[in-house]
Amino acid sequence: MAEQVIITGAGLGGLATALRLTSKGYKVKVLEKYHQPGGRLNSYKEQGFTFDLGPSFFSMSYEFDELFHSCGMENPLKYQQLAPLYTVNFAGSDRNFQIFRDLKKLAEEFKDIEPDFEAKCRKYLAGAKTIFHDTEYRIVKKNFNGKFDYLLSMAGVPWKHAPAMFRSMWTELDRHFESHEVKVIFSLVAFFLGATPFDTPAVYKLLNYTELEHDGYWSVEGGMYRIVETIVAELEKRGVEFEYGTEIKKVHRIGKEVSGLEDQNGHVWKADLYVINADAAAFRGQVLGREKYSEPKLDAMDWTLSPFTIYLGVKGKVEGLHHHNYFLGNNFKEYADKIFKLSVNPEKPYYYVNVSSKSNPACAPEGCENIFILCPVPDMRYKTHWQDAETLADNIIADLSERTGFDLAGNTMVRKVMPPDEWRDTFNLYRGSGLGLAHGLNQIGAFRPANKDESLNNLYYVGASTIPGTGLPIVVISSKLVTERICHEHQLV
Ligand SMILES: Cc1cc2nc3c(=O)[nH]c(=O)nc-3n(C[C@H](O)[C@H](O)[C@H](O)COP(=O)(O)OP(=O)(O)OC[C@H]3O[C@@H](n4cnc5c(N)ncnc54)[C@H](O)[C@@H]3O)c2cc1C
Repeated sequence: MAEQVIITGAGLGGLATALRLTSKGYKVKVLEKYHQPGGRLNSYKEQGFTFDLGPSFFSMSYEFDELFHSCGMENPLKYQQLAPLYTVNFAGSDRNFQIFRDLKKLAEEFKDIEPDFEAKCRKYLAGAKTIFHDTEYRIVKKNFNGKFDYLLSMAGVPWKHAPAMFRSMWTELDRHFESHEVKVIFSLVAFFLGATPFDTPAVYKLLNYTELEHDGYWSVEGGMYRIVETIVAELEKRGVEFEYGTEIKKVHRIGKEVSGLEDQNGHVWKADLYVINADAAAFRGQVLGREKYSEPKLDAMDWTLSPFTIYLGVKGKVEGLHHHNYFLGNNFKEYADKIFKLSVNPEKPYYYVNVSSKSNPACAPEGCENIFILCPVPDMRYKTHWQDAETLADNIIADLSERTGFDLAGNTMVRKVMPPDEWRDTFNLYRGSGLGLAHGLNQIGAFRPANKDESLNNLYYVGASTIPGTGLPIVVISSKLVTERICHEHQLV
């Protein structure tokens, strides 16, 4: 008989694991706190506007192919490549840098600020490429049985990469480029890890390789939520049951086994195996009551920045905006060094803007635009209250209006603001941290909360705060790793 698995959390990690486990013959039920699936990869609709709640693009598109193919399906998603990848505007300038994957075109873009850009960039990317390929299978796509096993794998990574573990990404960029603008633009990938280039190890320059040379960035025709709808439709066909509005508060155990999960209404859900897609560190502390993950210890860990997001449905077409845009200031280092530890709103915020109606017209009524704004802000250890959320939103909207020459406030039809406390409460994100645990060397591989519980034999974890880390394709890899572990430890008869 098929073993029964309960997955707690219908984020991408939980859904992808459900797809893989049902393909192996396990019977799966999914419990989710929110009223619909997707977790951070969610959707918000109002008055004919559809917004992607969080993620707006992804790298390593082939990980989704692998997911579907390994589950006996064609990949039904239609990808749209981001070309240019994005545009960048620095405050006080009319110039919008377009970031192309074609290095000759990119060199043209930077020709007056970075002489000999193409040669410098090829050299920089060559180093990034070797880091990517030398770690992909040794470190990223691998389950570890403890720290020794992990360190053994690390020892297999060529020693030439060691310096890049200990210097910052900014220092690395400084070694290759002269132009401040080029360095800032290339360092934006650090924010995808939820950190700044000044506290991100240089090994993550591999992300520049993924954006500029390897697979690039992609979104999905019809909007990012298609990923969730597609997987859920297939799971429903396979008989997977979903229970929404169900938050697990307590774990029942008998000896070294979980015997049930208790929800907020006192109902106990039972299965043979349990996979937790809630944050792997916070769940261990807040629900399992583990001392190693007590509140002071969780607070002492490194967490990624919090999202402050705005969803604007506007009348009219905003010509000054492309699909993906960054609006930055002129004090990058000072901003990155200070802002994320402050307890007040940034005065001149740096932010990202996505307008998916540019390539998916169905996401907005005719002649309108759906504008998503993401401003990284301090997590709630530093800024504990968000009563001033609307003030920050007004400030950002006014700045964007000025920089695009389009009166956004005067043409707003829909406006929703989602500050860190709402992200925290909606998806149980620890202190409102957007991407989960950070990715310093002390919190990756065997130093990240494992995907198998330390003491309960039938309890597993998947998602952004377990291995390998955060971001959509990486979470898909996480589902592969946990499925491999489960299949290895609980073979079906
Ligand atoms: C604003 C924002 C923008 C982002 N942009 C990008 C991007 O452009 N590209 C990219 O690749 N990545 C992006 N990310 C990161 C990406 O969204 C995450 O890495 C990924 O979605 C995490 O998936 P997950 O399954 O680990 O967790 P989640 O999506 O958080 O799913 C976990 C689920 O578990 C549920 N849950 C939690 N606790 C319980 C409980 N006790 N009981 C029941 N259910 C529970 C939650 O409600 C949630 O639905 C972004 C993240 C944010 C916040």
